[in-house]
Amino acid sequence: MSMLKDRLAVLEGHLARFRARGIENLIGGESRPAQSGRTFETRSPVDGVAFAQVAEGTGADIDAAAQAAKAAFPDWAAMAGAKRKAILHRIADAIEARAEEIALLECWDTGQAWRFMSKAALRGAENFRFFADLAPGARDGKALPTPGHLNVTSRAPIGPVGVITPWNTPFMLSTWKIAPALAAGCTVVHKPAEFSPLTARILAEICHDAGLPPGVLNLVNGFGESAGKALTEHPDIRAIAFVGESRTGSAIMRQGADTLKRVHFELGGKNPVIVFEDADLDRALDAAVFMIYSLNGERCTSSSRLLVQESIADEFEARLIERIGRLRVGHPLDPETEIGPLIHPAHLDKVTSYFDIARKEGATIAAGGRRIEGAGWFVEPTLFTGARPDMRIAQEEIFGPVLTALRFGDEDEALAMANGVAYGLAGYVWTNDLSRALRVSERLEAGMIWVNSENVRHLPTPFGGVKASGIGRDGGDWSFEFYMETKNVALALGAHQIPKLGG
Ligand code: NAD
Repeated sequence: MSMLKDRLAVLEGHLARFRARGIENLIGGESRPAQSGRTFETRSPVDGVAFAQVAEGTGADIDAAAQAAKAAFPDWAAMAGAKRKAILHRIADAIEARAEEIALLECWDTGQAWRFMSKAALRGAENFRFFADLAPGARDGKALPTPGHLNVTSRAPIGPVGVITPWNTPFMLSTWKIAPALAAGCTVVHKPAEFSPLTARILAEICHDAGLPPGVLNLVNGFGESAGKALTEHPDIRAIAFVGESRTGSAIMRQGADTLKRVHFELGGKNPVIVFEDADLDRALDAAVFMIYSLNGERCTSSSRLLVQESIADEFEARLIERIGRLRVGHPLDPETEIGPLIHPAHLDKVTSYFDIARKEGATIAAGGRRIEGAGWFVEPTLFTGARPDMRIAQEEIFGPVLTALRFGDEDEALAMANGVAYGLAGYVWTNDLSRALRVSERLEAGMIWVNSENVRHLPTPFGGVKASGIGRDGGDWSFEFYMETKNVALALGAHQIPKLGG
């Protein structure tokens, strides 16, 4: 209890300026209100009470930010990679120095538990360090000789880009997009989610204070349908990196069509964790619980479908129910808390609506299944059993601490179930049979598969999904493929025969 009190006191110190002065945009190195003068309230999921006014950016603010990003682009793109690297490392240093502040604000803004957000803040620094080190080589290309020509490729940053982020782990995800864009030499206009504006503002301030030139990173708060839409339609913005819902991705594609925007999408998921009878069941259970109930289940790579082999299903589900009963739901800043409140009331309504849907569809609510009454937007960790693959609870992304359990007989049935959804982000396979692990991984329709593991990230590896889960990959050089253009220069060696016309 005293730890919670201490953390609340420190949080209050960090919140005071936002309570007093609100959250402004940051454009061309200047903190500015929205041009319209309008603001909107932001609330904490912990108590549902508004704590700050946020600048409500619209097309005019996006235009100012795009102009600033365009003006800053030539110098930033031309800066030596080693110099960009040094600035990005200074940003990482500053994130580390303010990691506690970032984590506290993120918990308050999003309802995520401290045990995860303290790590997510540091991961933000790691994202900057990782791409800082790649900056000096970002432009490197290939030599592709033929007898007549030496072909030389090189890469150049695509131009000013828009980054649009969601409210789940917003700081980590923003750094995951912005760090490679800056390392590549792009300038950025960032439109964070309207439900979690705090740490995007801190990131913009950190970048500014660390010596990022004005206009290289611009922050515009606001709603998706206005500020976000204007960003995707802006003619000076060359590409949009978007993380969010699949249907928003479709909208962005339409909005960006007239200006032929390059898009990179990290979208939704309905990721299977497939447990075969020969698996290490203790470890599989730990991983299944972790991957759906950590981060409130508000996680794109959550294992929201449990596919368990019939022969072990009764035992596995019984142990799962027992574990769910011991999950600790509470204040995000309480060190004991494993699950905090959901992001906003409409999302709580969406998640809890699936309890009725599950009943109507004939599934069993084996654990949880209720909203926790009180000021915040809390819900019980929930398990649906007896589900069939065609049910909505087995098909749709619920994005909360809600797991749907299905049973399969053999490998083919498991794969048919696993692949029988619109999404294809991640898959988790549990088996001690190496050949089966390889076979199943080969046939699973997903961008990322973990065998006998929870989601563990290694930043040089590709991250992204197939089908309705996304377009493109992040991580390592894959990020640069998106933020850069490749050019080929063919140098004639002077010996080849040029076709002669009119001679
Ligand atoms: P969302 O799509 O509602 O919003 C995401 C962002 O898009 C917000 O900043 C929002 O303001 C903006 N936006 C909304 N409409 C827009 C429009 N028409 N034009 C431009 N911008 C617009 O998503 P959310 O509810 O904030 O986030 C949850 C979703 O994100 C889930 O589906 C989750 O799976 C997904 N997600 C995916 C990944 C991944 O890596 N694949 C990671 C995290 C979250």
